[in-house]
Amino acid sequence: MRQLWAPWRLEYIQSADEQDACIFCRAHGLDDEAGLVVHRGELAFVLLNRFPYASGHLMVAPYRHEGELAGLAAEEALEIHGLTATGVGVLGAVMGPHGFNLGWNLGRIAGAGIVDHVHQHVVPRWAGDTNFMPVLADVKVMPEALDSTRRKLAEAWP
Ligand SMILES: [Zn+2]
Repeated sequence: MRQLWAPWRLEYIQSADEQDACIFCRAHGLDDEAGLVVHRGELAFVLLNRFPYASGHLMVAPYRHEGELAGLAAEEALEIHGLTATGVGVLGAVMGPHGFNLGWNLGRIAGAGIVDHVHQHVVPRWAGDTNFMPVLADVKVMPEALDSTRRKLAEAWP
């Protein structure tokens, strides 16, 4: 089995505790471009991960600052599921990945950079994608790539 290798995430996980505000609460208060918001639902929203495992790596989070998976209301869980399913469809149409990894990282040991605002990851996968992963670590290239990816996904959102 191949491991996803994303060394730049280490810095993110290390610095997440030092940020004064929760990145999810902050993101939905910003405009779409600044917050990398792809779609806003009623109770939950979709944003691009600024420190992606792969190009097009989305996260779906409730607006409400909730740290426990079991703390989500049924309506929030349902909307997060719906947004996730739509996100898979949009990524499929726009970026043509060969597969997806979906998941919740609960707790720092499981890889969660932010532990007190639950969120679902949607990571598109391509055959052989571990080969180009280190390219994404180029911080000079990333912001433009993120802007353009965000715009494409937002425009394709039904
Ligand atoms: Zn929050």
